[in-house]
Amino acid sequence: MHPLHSFGWSERLQLLIDSHADDHTHTLEPARVVAERGDCLEVMTERGPELADRTGQLRFAADDARGLPVVGDWVGLRRHGDRPRIAHVFDRTSSLIRKQSGRAARPQVVAANLDVIFLITSANDEFNPRRIERYLSAVIGGGAQPVVVVNKIDLSDEPDRFLAQARGLMPGLEVFGTSALDGRGVAAFDPWLEQRLTLGFVGSSGVGKSSLLNRIAGEEVQATLVLRRDDTGRHTTTHRELFAVPGRQALIVDTPGMREFGIWATAGVSAVFGDVEGLLGRCRFRDCRHETEPGCALLDAIDAGELTASRLKAWRKLQRELHHLESRTHEAVDWRERRRRRRFARKVRRVQEEKRRMR
Ligand code: GDP
Ligand code: ZN
Repeated sequence: MHPLHSFGWSERLQLLIDSHADDHTHTLEPARVVAERGDCLEVMTERGPELADRTGQLRFAADDARGLPVVGDWVGLRRHGDRPRIAHVFDRTSSLIRKQSGRAARPQVVAANLDVIFLITSANDEFNPRRIERYLSAVIGGGAQPVVVVNKIDLSDEPDRFLAQARGLMPGLEVFGTSALDGRGVAAFDPWLEQRLTLGFVGSSGVGKSSLLNRIAGEEVQATLVLRRDDTGRHTTTHRELFAVPGRQALIVDTPGMREFGIWATAGVSAVFGDVEGLLGRCRFRDCRHETEPGCALLDAIDAGELTASRLKAWRKLQRELHHLESRTHEAVDWRERRRRRRFARKVRRVQEEKRRMR
């Protein structure tokens, strides 16, 4: 068995590594990113956990922060000195993208190569179909499979009402209810835990993500790991952000970024709003704005009770955001490109001056 088998190593990954080696002179040593440690990343290698540097070259090659290695990534290492360096990030099967906090609307990858993402909500006032739709579109747009979990069912007299409402958001959507308090429904996670999958948990603060994780993985697993730091000789106790569930096949990703997840609207909107978008070509007027126009297929569907006005509103809002974010992203890229050129020009100038002085 491959030494990284329990960290999700697969034939598909081996193919990626082999094809990379065909294009380049060196075969890279595979490793998976398990935590961020300031300037370094902790990676699981065939020899065990190690700290790896992100190379400057890699930073330059990534034309946008989305290309930099994050937790869950498969990377290629190169060894020269004592500390391995990350020389390549292998193509991702999925990426969970959030809006970077702060003013700039930039996408940021919070975790990569997640197979299934559990959207945790709770059976109380926190439950909000519009928020679930946003999470769904982000997860699906990023390439992972979403599963909705309605936690705190112990608080509700009619938990089925919440479950039915969540199921109605998207055909085929998997939904189940749990109580991290009394353990009800938590066994529904088992089918996913029994497979070699990488799982993630997102949802608002307070819905019970930690409580559910504790039930599934045990507190001690999430809590600590001891890593010897070669440069200081000290032992530091830290949290590993990608970890194996004891006695199970699955891996769980739990990063700070996933806990404060601001949604980046994505292409997944179409998948979540198939009912709305399926009607789009059917309005009488080609340029119908679905507001007051006669013969509007969307408005007719609302009149017929096949679509709710709030769902149409939610779709419209996400569409607007999507366009807005796209234009902002283009601006950000332009700005970065200009900065890069400016820096390069400055460097060239400096080299020329130096040459002149040396003459
Ligand atoms: P997180 O912010 O999503 O990680 O949420 P926590 O796991 O920290 O839980 C927030 C609060 O909700 C805590 O006080 C938990 O004890 C409580 N809680 C979590 N799950 C349940 C549940 O299933 N039922 C009830 N009644 N309370 C819960
Ligand atoms: Zn219309």
